[in-house]
Amino acid sequence: MAIQRTLSIIKPDAVAKNVIGQIIARFEGAGLKVVAGRLVHLSAAEAGQFYAVHKERPFFKDLVEFMISGPVFVQVLEGEDAIAKNRDLMGATDPKKAEPGTIRADFAESIDANAVHGSDAPETAAVEIAFFFPGMNVYSR
Ligand code: UDP
Repeated sequence: MAIQRTLSIIKPDAVAKNVIGQIIARFEGAGLKVVAGRLVHLSAAEAGQFYAVHKERPFFKDLVEFMISGPVFVQVLEGEDAIAKNRDLMGATDPKKAEPGTIRADFAESIDANAVHGSDAPETAAVEIAFFFPGMNVYSR
């Protein structure tokens, strides 16, 4: 399996709960490395652009409002099979359906305030990483 990079976002609910470190520890414990990271408070325009794929969905407006309700921690994770590994660690979108021991099962309250985002494919990972880390800010470790 190839070394990949993926974009992870620790969403406003988890940042407000002060569990950034606990969530990063899950990634590191699974062998993923943080190769870029920063705290950012998104504007509505930025959140709408990031989630543009969902703009026709009924939850879009609430999703944007939630994503701008406080700062988020954006990071690039690198490692073997990083995209699928991150998604496994996150658990299902709806925390009620997430496997015990996953980030969403342990830290998320609801399907909208669900603690983390993770890229779902190599193409989206590339676009999402460039969205937050344009240029040469990402280093291999
Ligand atoms: N979402 C929501 N209500 C829904 C479905 C999704 O609020 O019924 C939000 C939720 O925050 C989710 C995001 O929209 O994480 C993106 O949805 P997607 O289906 O891509 O889920 P993910 O890839 O984040 O698991």
